[in-house]
This record gives sequence, structure tokens and C-alpha cells, in this order.
Amino acid sequence: MADYNPQKLEEEISRYWDKNDIKQKVRERTEGNEPFFLIDGPPYLNGSPHVGHMQGKVLKDVMLRFKQMQGYDVWDQAGFDTHGLPNELATEEHLGIENKNEIGDKISAEEFITECRKRATSAKDEWQGVMNDLAVWQDFENPYMTYDSNYIETAWWLLKKTHNQDLLYEAGKPIHWCPRCQTSLSGYEVTDEYQQVSDIAVYVKFPIENSDEKLVIWTTTPWTIPSNMAVFVHPEFEYAKVDVDGETLIIAEQLLGSVMETAGYEEEEYNVKEIVKGEELESLKYETPFLEEVPKQKELDKEEGVHLVHTSTELVTLEDGTGLVHAATGHGPEDYEETRPLGLPVFSPLDGEGYYTEEAGELQGKNVLEIDPEIVEKLQEKELLLHHEDYHHEYPHCWRCKTELIYRAADQWFIKNEKIKERMLEENQDVDWIPESTQKRFHNFVQESPDWCISRQNYWGIPIPIWVNDETGNIQVIGSFEELEEKAGGLPENFDPHKHVVDDITWEGEEGGTYRRVPDIFDVWYDSGIAPFASLHYPFEEQPFEDMWPMDFITEASDQIRGWFYHLMFAGILGFDEKPYEKILFQGYVLDAEGEKMSKSVGNVVDPAEQVEKFGADLPRFYQLRLAPPWEQKNYDEEEIQNEIYRLFSVYWNTKEFYQTYVDEDVSKPEELRKEDEWVLSRINSITAEAEDLMEDCLFYKLTRKIETFLLQDLSRWYVKIVRERIKTGDQAAAWTLRTVLEEVNALLAPFAPYMAEKVYQDFEGELKSVHMEEYPKPDEGAIDDELEENMDLTREIIEKSIKIRDENQYNLRWPARRMVLSLEEEWEEKLKDFEPLIKQMANVKKIEYGQVSSELIAEPDYSSIGPKFGSDADKVAEKVRMLDEEQIKQATETGEIEVDGYDITGEDIQVSRESGESVDSKVFKQGEIFLDLEMNEEIKEDAFVNELIRSIQQKRKETGLEVEDTITLSIKGDIEPVREREQLVGQRINISEIEYENADYENKGEENFKGFNVEFSFSNPVN
Ligand SMILES: [Zn+2]
Repeated sequence: MADYNPQKLEEEISRYWDKNDIKQKVRERTEGNEPFFLIDGPPYLNGSPHVGHMQGKVLKDVMLRFKQMQGYDVWDQAGFDTHGLPNELATEEHLGIENKNEIGDKISAEEFITECRKRATSAKDEWQGVMNDLAVWQDFENPYMTYDSNYIETAWWLLKKTHNQDLLYEAGKPIHWCPRCQTSLSGYEVTDEYQQVSDIAVYVKFPIENSDEKLVIWTTTPWTIPSNMAVFVHPEFEYAKVDVDGETLIIAEQLLGSVMETAGYEEEEYNVKEIVKGEELESLKYETPFLEEVPKQKELDKEEGVHLVHTSTELVTLEDGTGLVHAATGHGPEDYEETRPLGLPVFSPLDGEGYYTEEAGELQGKNVLEIDPEIVEKLQEKELLLHHEDYHHEYPHCWRCKTELIYRAADQWFIKNEKIKERMLEENQDVDWIPESTQKRFHNFVQESPDWCISRQNYWGIPIPIWVNDETGNIQVIGSFEELEEKAGGLPENFDPHKHVVDDITWEGEEGGTYRRVPDIFDVWYDSGIAPFASLHYPFEEQPFEDMWPMDFITEASDQIRGWFYHLMFAGILGFDEKPYEKILFQGYVLDAEGEKMSKSVGNVVDPAEQVEKFGADLPRFYQLRLAPPWEQKNYDEEEIQNEIYRLFSVYWNTKEFYQTYVDEDVSKPEELRKEDEWVLSRINSITAEAEDLMEDCLFYKLTRKIETFLLQDLSRWYVKIVRERIKTGDQAAAWTLRTVLEEVNALLAPFAPYMAEKVYQDFEGELKSVHMEEYPKPDEGAIDDELEENMDLTREIIEKSIKIRDENQYNLRWPARRMVLSLEEEWEEKLKDFEPLIKQMANVKKIEYGQVSSELIAEPDYSSIGPKFGSDADKVAEKVRMLDEEQIKQATETGEIEVDGYDITGEDIQVSRESGESVDSKVFKQGEIFLDLEMNEEIKEDAFVNELIRSIQQKRKETGLEVEDTITLSIKGDIEPVREREQLVGQRINISEIEYENADYENKGEENFKGFNVEFSFSNPVN
């Protein structure tokens, strides 16, 4: 028997698969059947696959293999995300570009994009290699790539469709902006990256025109004050006009105390002279602090509503600050929204790198992230600063480059979300989320989601197909390459629809002017959101899309609620007014063995390629699936693979090897099966009966654990132990049963451990070319017998208890026990009858009896009672108590009294105990009690002796290096009679041609001495 060697096994199977094109053949078997549509959440190709990818890919592979076995024609195209900033940043670094503005200047856009494209696929081969080793059979030969022209054309098609639904608009809104990456970020890109920063908080006085009163505002972003457009108060709040240092300040009354204290004033230093309601302050005109330095402010000052006090119940709270809010329409989304009805201009004098532009006058060229101290100084000079202090708070940073984000208004393209949102919420009701609770999480996220800002100011992405007339401002959205060709009167040869090419394509408008493309590219989430149809070049090619839509199953990490799951849904509604997926499985994060996040700098990263090198693919695959529900966080611990999973697979392997060693011809279903055969068939079919549902519900951890328990507890430690001798002696029923069970469990294992299952299938000479072409096993319902399983449980318990008794009495299992007595309720006695042979065999007992073990009731006098009661006669009575027989004792305990020779003896006068032979021991269990009689009579001694002798000979055979099938001639001398009487047994257990007594003296020698019996034995080298 060869040991289980995963690397060797997998290499061999891998070669077989490749040589015989098995993957393709498995695919062909179900071609044309009902489709099963799965799309890859495209991983970003900027690095090697990590252990989280491994989990995701294995989950997909398991589901696909399962569906394939069920007969579905699976759509399993892999995909890669290729566009986006991480690539751009790496490319910039690679090319030595420090600033994005250098593109087009120092290096052409074409060169830059060509480099990005190269980088986008650099890890593709490595990915394919690792996935191939992991036996992930997704179609990696023809993956969809988001940079493909076809993919881009579908992206354009959808935008045009969106435009036709009147959902596309451009607006100069303040949005989160990274000055390093020079691009906008969506809200969901910001939520994870809050870090502690230290800013300056300022209390600033805004003088009211033609008055000596001043509004006091509070802000933690002093750099936004030069862009101030308005001040908001709450119409209902009360505001104090307070005299201090010869000025009159206006501050919300409730906050007055804390503001003055913060500013360093004692109560007696200020004086409230009037309280007014917020609404009374409305429309007061004030002088914005940077009117002189920022000439644009002077211009805007003349516009209606600018630099006036307005009221808002939304913007103004009493949580902190002064109850007066400084509004910079270009630097805060709430400021922006709240000032829309007022028609205030959006003022954002910042460039993409976060420097003030010419519009900011004197401030031009200064960086907003550095200017706060200077602003404070200027306010001080102007005597407008009431107070300033350091302020620590959580502030959003760019998730890619960790730069502090700013709010900046820039012209961006948006898709209106209001109507789409309603449909998303409706459709979400019909999505099967695993676990179910995530449906609500998705619902909540959708409910709060804003319009989708789809534009980004980068190079490497899908160009937004909007062309704007430079004279009239009219726009045209282009929905296909053909349409673009018509407009432009031709396309360049080898048309590449990326920015460097499409930016040069223009045409004259019929109304005059020239149509030029907006410079932006799409948010990469738009790329991945359209994957289910863009990967198929819908609607430009004849294809299976309509039959397959929507996707049957997708699975990604839980952070994709606001990522891929959301944008797929959005794109699905935009394109088809329908949910794009039926079922979503969540993946929890994979942490290291100690529960720490894996990170390169800590050095605790688990590399899938290394795992495969160490353990092969089956073990890590099975391990990850069995570890926990897919959606839960997991600690990846290699030790468990080594210790538990390797052992499990070895047991499985050895069981198969055992079968192959002793059964060499085909076995057919026998007429009659024994109880243990029926039982193990019932067990495996019980598991099979649940398997399909567990797979559908992605409860892989439950099914793998059931398989594990079956292999270890039921099969290896029980069934095989029972039938070992039957198999060795050619019992057809046992052989057929073991084979049937192994074949069935192998089919259940196939999706989880594709290599091992294939190898076992081959060793069993499966009918098809591959186990993966087999149908998923269906249970034989007739074989399932719950009562039988229950009875076997009891049988097992009895046998285990008997072995415990032996252990406690140091009575070896090789020595037969004289009898076992079972004290059970009648119902159980009946049920156990059929299992008696099994109990006798496994517990090694000669006889099974039911009832109580024969024992005696014994009565002892209780002097504390009879002493006072009988006085001087006590000793005499005590003697009579000792003489009571069993009947009398029972009477005394049951009726409470008995008369003996004129003495009235009651139950209190005696203590009753039960006494049995010294060699009987017992154990109690749920259904009753077991007694085991361990007294050795002569026959048992001889039996035990022969068993010990057999063991010694077998031990010696092993030491000599003999194989199981080797036949020997055996010679023994000494106390040979017990052996002679048990020759048949010896012959069954040891492979011998004959036994000689007293005659020969062979090469291999040994002796056995047991309880007075002594023999010497010797045996020949193999004679076969
Ligand atoms: Zn950044």
C-alpha cells in the first residue's frame, strides 16, 4: 500500500487532464443544456493572487463543478479588471513621472497608455498558472478584459441607453478629490479611509454691513473661508447679541457660554444685550473676510443672495461651533445642496492638485493643505479672529495614495439615481442573499446612495463617449463604434478606443461649432458593473446572453456591497430594468492563524502558490471550505491542513488502498447484506440525501464536515474495522458494500477535491473519462433506515463501553470475555437481537445475556437502629439479620417490616447491598447497563493464548518485511494443543500454506508465553 502523496498524485492527474483534454470534454458533456451563468468579479491584475482570491476562486470552482455534475451548461469565463488608478500610479512611478501634468508634456498620452496596457496584463500568466494548479477550471484561456475594444463598445452602448432615458447630467458639484491622484472619488471610496489628523479650528467674525455687529462662524477648514458664499442660521434658534471688547458679536444663545469660555472670556467680561430668533437675522448682508484678496469675490458679491445670512433647518445644529455656518458652495456637498434653491454660484478656485487658481487672486499658487496657518495670520491681521485652536479629528484620506482629501467642485458627469434606486430596492427583494441578513444591508446602502458620479479625470480607462459642441454646448452620446465612424467620417486604422485616440476624433456640428470629446474616463466601477453583458459584447454579437441573463450566481467579499454588487445592480437596471443576479454568496475575510490581518510588511501573508507547493491543491481547498461558513471571517492555519486535513485524506486513501489490496475482481451486488453493510449504506445515503441542498445553499462547511465524520468515524473507525476479516477472506457482500460506499463518497468529494476524486475514480476504473463527467450522486432512498442507524449507535455504544471496562481491568481485547449481560428496556432488547453477532465480534465476548447479572442481595444490621430498639438482644438480632435470605430482604425493604423468630425487624434496621462475582464490572449508559464478566476459564485462556500467538507471528512477519499476500510455512513446538484445536482460525488470520508441529526449524523465529502456555515458532520465507 502506497502512502497518500498529494503532490505526486496531483502531478499525475494534472498530466492526465492535459493529455486527454479532460477539461474540454467535461465542458462538452453538458453543452446545449440549461445554462448556469456565473461571472467573475474581476480581480485587479496588479499583483499575485492572495489567499482571499484563492478562497473566492475555489468557491466559484466548487459551485461550477457541482452544477456541471448536475448537468448544467456552465458559463464560467474568468475576467480581469485592467483599468484604473493603481495601474496609473505604478506606471507613473515606473516612468519617473512625478506629476500627472507631465503626461502629454514630458511623455505622450499614447506612450503612457501603452505602458499602462502592458502593466495591466503583467500578472496574467501567473494568475493562470496558480489557478490551474488549484484545479480552478474557470475559463482562464479566454478571460474578459475590461480594456478590450468590444468591452468598451458595450460600455458606450449602455451610456447612450442611459442618456436616452434622460438620466445623464453634468454638474459642477463639490466632490471628494485627491490632489495627488488628481481625480474625484465617490462616497463609497471614501468610507474606509478615515485617519486622525490635526487641523486648526477657527472662530471668525464676519462684520455686518452698515452695523457694528459681527456674525461669528466656526470652521475646521480655514482654507475654505476665501471661497465663502453665505452664512446659515437656524430660523428657530435663539441668537445672542453680546457685547465684548467693544464689539457686538452674534452667537447662538445655547452655545454662547462654551464659545466665550473657549475664547478665553470670563462671564463678567461679556454682556448679552439682546436675544433674537434666527429668522430675524435672515438677509443681513455681511462683508466676507477675503473680499480684498480675492477679486472674484468682489464680482460674486454683487450677485443675488451672495454674502447674505440665510436660514436652514438642515445645515445648522447646536452640536458644536457657534450656531452660524459658513457655507462654501464649492467645498461642501451639503453647502452645495442647501444653496441650490437660492441659486448661489458654485465657487471653487482650486486646481486638480489642490492649489488656488487665478480666481483666488493673491492666494493663487498656494496649496490648500498647507495654507491654514497663513489664513489664520491674515484673519488676525484683519482683527476678524475671535479664537483659534488645534483640532484633532477623523478626516478622509485617499484609499490609494493616503493623501488627505479635499472637497473641490469640478464639472462631473452623473447618472441620476432617484428612479433607479426605487427599482434597485424592488429587485433586491428577489435576490437570494447568503447569508440572508445581507439583503437588508444592501437595501440600506442603496437607500442612502447618491447620484452616481461616473467621470474620472484620468488616462487609463474607458473614455466617456460624450462629445460636446464647443460653440453651442450641445452634447452627443455615442453608443457604438459604427456611430462614431459615421459622425467622424471614418476611424483610424486598428482603432483603439482609448483616450489618446478618441480625444483626437472631432466633427463639425450641423448647427456650427465642433464636437469634441469630454476629457474624462469612466469610474472603474462602471467597468465592472457592466461585466455580465460587456464580457459578451452585448448587443453587438449574436450570443447566448438572452438565454443566460440574469446571472445565476456570484460570490465576492463582503465589501462589495458598495462596490461590485451595487454597481452590477445599477447597471442591470440601467440596461435591462432587471436585477442582474439571482444568488449572491458573501465571502468573509481570511486572516492569518492568529486572527491578524495578513500584510506584506508583517510577513504573515499566505501565498496560494506556496500552499500548493506544500500541500497540493486538494488539501487547502477542502480546508478552506470546511473551516467555517463562507461568509464568516476565517483564520488560515497551515497546521490544521497538515494535521487534520492531511490525516483525513490519508485515511480516505488508505481505505481505498485496503480495498484494492484485498479485492482484485469485480464484485456484484450480493443477495444478502449483513446489518453493518446495510448500516453503512444507510449512512452514506443519508448524507447524499442532504448534499444537493447543502451545495445549493453554499453550506459547504456542513457537507465537508459530514463527509469528514463519515470517513473517519463511520467508515474507517467502524465499518472497515468490522469487515476487515470479511474483506480479507473474500466476502462479496462486504466488498461490494465498501466499494459502493467509496464510490459514492468520492462523487461527493469531487467538487471539493478534484484531484483525489479523479485518482480514486481511475483506480476504480470508472466508466467515464473523468469523475467530473459523472452525475451528481442521488441518494438511494430505499437504503436509508433511520432506525437501523439508531440501533447501530446503541450497538456501538455498548461495544465502546465494554472496551472501557476492559481497559480499566487491563483485560486485553484479544482475550475473549466469558459473557456480556445487558440490562435494557424490553423494546431495546428486541432491537439489539440482530446486532448480537456484531457485538460478539467487536467486543470479543462468547455469550450475550439479558437481564441483571446474577448477584445476591445482602443485608447487614444497622446498629444505630437495632441497638436502642433491641437493647441486650441486639447482637442476637444482628445475627438473624445476617442470615436473612433474598426473599426476606426484599420483603423487609418493600413492606417495611418482617417478623423473624418473634423479633419485628423493619427496613430501618438493615442495610442492603448487592454482591456479585469479583470478575464482573459494569457501565451505565442512556438505555441501560452493561455487565462484562472477565473471569478466565481454561477455554478462554487457550483462546487468548492462541490470539496472542497469532499477533506475535504477525508482528514477526512485519519485522521480516513480508507482504500481506506472502504465504509461509509455519512450525510450532511446545504447548501446541490449543493451537491444533484452532488451526482453522490461525489459517484465516495468517497467510500460511501449512502448520507443522515439532518438525522444522525455519529462518524466522519467535516465541510466545502466556499464562502458563509456552511455544516456540518459526516460519519460512515466502513460498509463493
Ligand atoms: Zn490619491
